[in-house]
Amino acid sequence: MINSLDKIIADVSQEIETHKTAITKKSIGTVVEIRDEVVLMEGLDSARYGELLNFGSGVIGMIVDLTDTVGAIIFGNYQQIKQGAQVSAMNEIFSIPVGEEYIGRVVDGIGTPIDQGKKIFSKVRLLVDSIAPGVIERQSVDTSLHTGIKAIDGLIPIGRGQRQLIIGDRRTGKTSIATDTILAQKGGDVICIYCAIGQRRSNVATTVELLRSSGAMEYSIVVAATSSDSAAMQYVAPYVATTIGEYFLQKGRDVLVIYDDLSKHAWAYRQISLVLRRPSGREAYPGDVFYLHSRLLERACRLNQKHGGGSLTALPIIETQEGDVSAYIPTNVISITDGQIVVDSDLFNAGIRPAINVGASVSRIGGAAQVSAMKMVAGKLKFDLAQYRELAAFAQFESDLDSETKKFLDGGARMTQLLKQGVHAPYDLAHQVVIFWAGTAGYLDSISVNKVSQFEKEYIVFLEAHQKKLFTEINKTKKIGETAEKTLKSATDSFMKLFSEQ
Ligand code: ATP
Ligand code: MG
Repeated sequence: MINSLDKIIADVSQEIETHKTAITKKSIGTVVEIRDEVVLMEGLDSARYGELLNFGSGVIGMIVDLTDTVGAIIFGNYQQIKQGAQVSAMNEIFSIPVGEEYIGRVVDGIGTPIDQGKKIFSKVRLLVDSIAPGVIERQSVDTSLHTGIKAIDGLIPIGRGQRQLIIGDRRTGKTSIATDTILAQKGGDVICIYCAIGQRRSNVATTVELLRSSGAMEYSIVVAATSSDSAAMQYVAPYVATTIGEYFLQKGRDVLVIYDDLSKHAWAYRQISLVLRRPSGREAYPGDVFYLHSRLLERACRLNQKHGGGSLTALPIIETQEGDVSAYIPTNVISITDGQIVVDSDLFNAGIRPAINVGASVSRIGGAAQVSAMKMVAGKLKFDLAQYRELAAFAQFESDLDSETKKFLDGGARMTQLLKQGVHAPYDLAHQVVIFWAGTAGYLDSISVNKVSQFEKEYIVFLEAHQKKLFTEINKTKKIGETAEKTLKSATDSFMKLFSEQ
């Protein structure tokens, strides 16, 4: 009996001796206050900005404030968190898994699938708030991003790697411009990411349905933080979308990211900042709201060959009130981007759609990337339209105009008609080029303004039937050579005969 007891004691002592406990340092804190979606904590001595916190039962937070207390925004259900609860630091800065698996998926503001599909697993992770590529890694924009929208590709061209703002009042076709640009990438090599921020869920569902039914989800990803999601989700969503894009960028691919919209993103950030009682500045936005958006849009870039040659094009959207582009957030984002597409509710209501205000819109760097065929026809178009606008502004006070002026004004009105385009119907390059070519070569002069759309439609059908090869050539070479122009001229002459006989 005693013997066996000794043995047990010996065994236990040996076990204790050989047992090694691993000591891990864990940063622990206590919740002291819950203010809406922001939680304030004590403790967490080694907390870092951007570090993730575990509140238990699947609720995760991220540190956004390091003052007397530690402040964190919550990504899960913050109502589960109780005062006095313990919280532990995860010793990890916010990162997400990235990879090809995202293509075709709809994910929430932190990259978790919400489309009932399978979970996204990837060993590769990237930091959500990363530093933009430096100047040494970049090269200038030199490849065009075809949007399929005539007015944009012709007059305000966008290059891959550019940051181009879409700005305008409510319901003026901003989202349509962005989604149509995604549709135009079909059959191409661009990965598209649509990031919805603060929109109604039904609107996002409509956009996803549009992308699905047009086959665009095959090369697209939707990141959706809707108005029913927390301000925290809406705040991080554009960074998460950019991070998903950066994976493809680093693989040398071309990526397009749409942020729809950054006004609501700024609201979400303002809400968080006000709850944190940070001093507010103009329009109650915190002082660093400019930094918030510049840090995001700086990540758009065109990398040089040494760094893979990929690109990330950013199309942020901003909603204005009564067309006021001089408000705080609009001016901020205008100054961060490389140009803006201004959409106008007056034009929209007058039936000029897309309602792009060509005079107020500008693309500062895209011209360098415009393809040769488009450059050839759009140069004159731009010049004519600018002159038309100037003359039209004066002519509205004039009752009797001389015939020369009247002719010029009519020409401008026809050109404006020619820039009209239906929704979700992107044009390929050759179609755009031949239409502009016919417009600038004077073929429209004999056609009344209300017949321009009909002319355009029938002209394309005619050329498709008789000159298919020409279209293929323009799309492939992106040029119009001398012989091609001759062929186009004679085909257009024959079409004009048919059209005028109608
Ligand atoms: P919101 O302020 O609600 O976000 P928005 O500015 O994004 O609106 P859209 O949702 O794109 O505008 O478009 C508003 C409406 O106008 C939609 O019903 C859309 O189908 C229509 N629309 C947009 N572009 C065109 C177009 N080129 N031709 C005809 N209809 C258009
Ligand atoms: Mg919209």
